[in-house]
Amino acid sequence: MKKLAILGSTGNIGTQTLEVVDKYPNKLKVIALSANSDIETLEKQIKKYKPLAVGVANPQKAKLLEKKVSIPVFSGKKANLEIVRMKKYDTLINSVVSLAGIEATLEGIKLKKNVALANKETLVAAGEIVMKEAQKNGVMIMPIDSEHSALFQCLNGEKSEEIHRMIITCSGGALIDKKLEELKNISLEDALGHKTWSMGQKITIDSATLMNKGFEVIEAMWLYDLPIEKIKVVVHPQSIIHSMIEYSDGSIMAQMSEPSMKLPIQYALSYPERWSSPLKRFDFSKDLTFQEPDLERFPCLKYAFKAAHEMGTLPAAMNSANDFMVEQFLNKKCKYLDIARVIKKVMDNHQNKKNPNLADIQEAIKKAQQEAKKFLFEGK
Ligand code: MG
Repeated sequence: MKKLAILGSTGNIGTQTLEVVDKYPNKLKVIALSANSDIETLEKQIKKYKPLAVGVANPQKAKLLEKKVSIPVFSGKKANLEIVRMKKYDTLINSVVSLAGIEATLEGIKLKKNVALANKETLVAAGEIVMKEAQKNGVMIMPIDSEHSALFQCLNGEKSEEIHRMIITCSGGALIDKKLEELKNISLEDALGHKTWSMGQKITIDSATLMNKGFEVIEAMWLYDLPIEKIKVVVHPQSIIHSMIEYSDGSIMAQMSEPSMKLPIQYALSYPERWSSPLKRFDFSKDLTFQEPDLERFPCLKYAFKAAHEMGTLPAAMNSANDFMVEQFLNKKCKYLDIARVIKKVMDNHQNKKNPNLADIQEAIKKAQQEAKKFLFEGK
């Protein structure tokens, strides 16, 4: 029986993780949950899964929930850390959105918990530190993302020295067919209309700018200890091949399935076993097509490759500027093309610090956010 602490349990990945728990109640047990502010959903989850404690990042919401339930409610910025420090679970699932997830992942690693990671920012902003800690503590990080789960599966039984390159597939996002001219006046609704994946709003916008793919490239570099030069992105609109590894002899291993996040979630929890799943089976009458990503229309992917080359605090600054800009776009405070424009300015202005510690990264995150705000609203 795996005992789970799920950070971000009311979000898209969190709720799908709980659906996997529903299917395997004899193999998976919920010990703790946390949410940002959606206490209505969290209260329902408490009734159903009977965790020993929960965390709520929003202090006002935490207070409201505390009055309604009889278990401890950790509150505020440190709520996730309090959950991670609980003794009675063995597997930490981190599906917190944005940069708030980094400290929780690091703490879980230090406590030698199994870590299933859906929080991209952990590796994008702090990959160097996180992987060093994981190695030191003998912790394997299981990815909860279709691409990294695919790469993990394609690596099974192979030697990493024999990898020629990793090929990360990309649906292309909601705007793949738009011309540059059309991208100028893209509405929020257009950018949120993803064709093959249904995900949270933040990641759907990251998908529409290809920044999500840029994040995944950086994550793959850290997770599989591969130089960035050996990682390639290919657009594959059907989202059936989730990623591939080409070996030195020219063989390419691919992992395929109908697109569903439940598969990588379940595999992260079942590994090294495979459990049956109700996943729709692939229909071989479908065409699979590939194309090169267009870095002119979607420059965020180019910026992510640059950040991966330079490392240091630059990926954290890029990530932070992106977090800020996507939030503005979701609140209709800026245009779609402003996202990439401001990220580039923040990166160009960033004084990169190599071999950063966590404080350096947190400083870079704070500064990049202030700069993005300045560039967007003051035009500086
Ligand atoms: Mg993905």
